[in-house]
Amino acid sequence: MEGKNNTDYVSEIKRMKTEKNAIILAHYYQSGDIQDIADFTGDSLALSQKAASNDAEIILFAGVKFMAETAKILAPEKKVLLPDLDAVCSLADSCKPADFKRFIDENPGRTVVSYVNTNVEIKALSDIICTSSNAVQIINSLSRDEKVLFAPDRNLGNYVLNETGRDMVIWNGTCHVHEEFSLEAILNLKKQNPDAKIIVHPECELPVRMVADYIGSTSGLLQFTKKDPGKSYIIATEPGIIHQMKKANPDKKYIPAPPKDSTCGCSECNFMKLITIEKIYKCLRDEKPEIFIDAKMISDAQKPIKRMMEISKKLGL
Ligand code: SF4
Repeated sequence: MEGKNNTDYVSEIKRMKTEKNAIILAHYYQSGDIQDIADFTGDSLALSQKAASNDAEIILFAGVKFMAETAKILAPEKKVLLPDLDAVCSLADSCKPADFKRFIDENPGRTVVSYVNTNVEIKALSDIICTSSNAVQIINSLSRDEKVLFAPDRNLGNYVLNETGRDMVIWNGTCHVHEEFSLEAILNLKKQNPDAKIIVHPECELPVRMVADYIGSTSGLLQFTKKDPGKSYIIATEPGIIHQMKKANPDKKYIPAPPKDSTCGCSECNFMKLITIEKIYKCLRDEKPEIFIDAKMISDAQKPIKRMMEISKKLGL
């Protein structure tokens, strides 16, 4: 197959999926051609839940490493594949286990709430996991006097702190994509498109969040553009999501928010974009690279995820 085009790879991928009882899960930040060959598209947690609630023996995760790990944590009996092990996450990697353990020790008596965008070792050190969709509700579900240690994204942490007014200490991590949006360029776009609504991911910095008409997770932003009667949006998150927005409402206008450095493509996640159709083909063919996590680590990391799911269920989220 070497040297063949994407069409050849796509038909081979389809054939191997059936032959091997495999499914492809693609994150919303993947390129459109990858989202189109996936069995399911979604945000990281929804995809991991799909991994667990599916009969497939092989899960190929078109996303980044912490997502494939989360799928393995929730479906340990399955073979979980990631087409490129260099597809990591700068936010997750900003939180190293030894440093995080020290941060917890320096702040005793706090409930450790970690964002799903963390590596497995950090999940295993946490009390509860949250996502950008449920972070506010998870923290509000804790008793009023419970003190919180939040990691790893400082912008999401500050957003949650403002929304909940809780006593929180926050790890100083950021996502290189969401940190990079230019307020000035967004306001210029708004001048040129006065009817456009500015919709923003909570991992963005405060000045960008302050001009938002709506703040929400990647899935939340997609749902907003589906339900909102408006016709035009300036979107401050990874532009891969625009593929799904266009599919749902092709007549609306979607304008990606520009990064501070207009000479780079840094509003795209370069880790997400390491995954290609060719790598997916090779990964499914060779059934590697595979995600391996030892049983004790899986069990420790499952507990805070299950706690999040129990709280979400109780709150009807
Ligand atoms: S967009 Fe940011 S948080 Fe998401 S995978 Fe890329 S670096 Fe990590």
